[in-house]
Amino acid sequence: MNFADSEIVASLLTKANHTIVTDIEAADYILINTCAIRDNAEQRIRKRLHELRALQQRHKQVRIGILGCMAERLQSQLMVEEENVSFVVGPDAYRRLPELLASVRTPGTKAAETELSTTETYADIEPVRLGSNGISAYISIMRGCQNYCAYCVVPYTRGRERSRDPETIVSEARNLFEQGYKEVTLLGQNVNSYRYASENGNVDFPELMHRVASISPLLRVRFATSHPKDLSDRLLEVMASHSNICKCIHLPVQSGSDRMLKLMNRHYDSAWYLDRIAAIRRYMPDCSITTDVIAGFCTETEEEHQMTLEMFRKVRYDYAYMFKFSMRPDTYAAKHLEDDIPEAEKTRRLEEIIALQGQIALENNRKEIGKTFEVLVEGESHRSKEQLFGRNSQNKVIVFDRHDAQPGQYIQVKVTDCTAATLKGEIVQP
Ligand code: SAH
Ligand code: SF4
Repeated sequence: MNFADSEIVASLLTKANHTIVTDIEAADYILINTCAIRDNAEQRIRKRLHELRALQQRHKQVRIGILGCMAERLQSQLMVEEENVSFVVGPDAYRRLPELLASVRTPGTKAAETELSTTETYADIEPVRLGSNGISAYISIMRGCQNYCAYCVVPYTRGRERSRDPETIVSEARNLFEQGYKEVTLLGQNVNSYRYASENGNVDFPELMHRVASISPLLRVRFATSHPKDLSDRLLEVMASHSNICKCIHLPVQSGSDRMLKLMNRHYDSAWYLDRIAAIRRYMPDCSITTDVIAGFCTETEEEHQMTLEMFRKVRYDYAYMFKFSMRPDTYAAKHLEDDIPEAEKTRRLEEIIALQGQIALENNRKEIGKTFEVLVEGESHRSKEQLFGRNSQNKVIVFDRHDAQPGQYIQVKVTDCTAATLKGEIVQP
């Protein structure tokens, strides 16, 4: 999501006659788009700021700005803590960037703009694609979140949930397709609650997916993230009925324990979650399922941790983002709960989840050996120039000998081998 936001920022600044440079030594401004979701994300930014001091000594004209969630969370306090930062700009204030950049030219001047909005969606901004492969692009369809999960800082740093005008989403996707892009990923904190009311009627997420997928069968459509509480059968129906909607659902479970889920304010229990998994498998037996999980949330017992492992064994995810709980200021957890699981214990629980997931991913991948998939070729493999890589509909990376294939093409690849992370295969001639 930050990546997509940076593309909006690049667009706003390019329109204001700034240019993007690839060599940091040539920059007059360095803008760092930040995440605040866990403490280590913020620590990485502070480390980066420290490293930039030497460059600022060499180039006195450089101004450093912090964008995104860390800017929103800490506001002007961040410029006191980090002296080399000249401006902070929150996620809803990017339109003001040209003005702010001009205002910090005078040495010693500082500026902060962190007002959150209930309506800003940057709907009219055509993003400048940064570091793009010309094949896949992100499209932001909504902003903010008001689910207030007990551990999560997002509602405080990104404000109220709001959906973007569907016409602008469809036209952005159509433009990308006309420029040669083959895949779009629709982004939001909880895409299932996308809803836009206009004179032409209401558009919900399944309807939006239907409209984007109808642009062309050659345009793949992905989306992230879905909240389990709102995953409707209607969405699964729409997914199943369009071959170009990729068969991959990211459904963050967070915990396998009902007591934890309640304490986390997730609005579902393990039975509900498993019912949604069964529904996915009913509509799309070949759909890949991935997740997010938190180890060591406040008061989590060993037994509850075991329930998370049990959930992983039942669902058999293809991939998981796995985290240790990190207490975030302002959240419900920070105000009402105690971060009582010792760091070493959180690490042990996380490592157990990681080990189990590694084993499951490998077993899942082994079952793919012998199958043939349609693959969208993305580029050269990191290992060898003789090999290309791409993804199947399930979002699994497949590496294969290149022959005549080109990035951007759809080809058929038969899987011959795998690791836990990657499939290996060979091109099947049509
Ligand atoms: N909106 C998405 C998630 C966005 S944050 C959703 O609800 O599914 C991405 C992931 O970061 C979350 O799913 C959660 O697993 C993790 N996360 C969020 N806050 C965290 C915290 N305080 N400590 C550890 N992990 C956290
Ligand atoms: Fe955070 Fe929950 Fe919103 Fe996801 S749904 S962004 S975890 S508050």
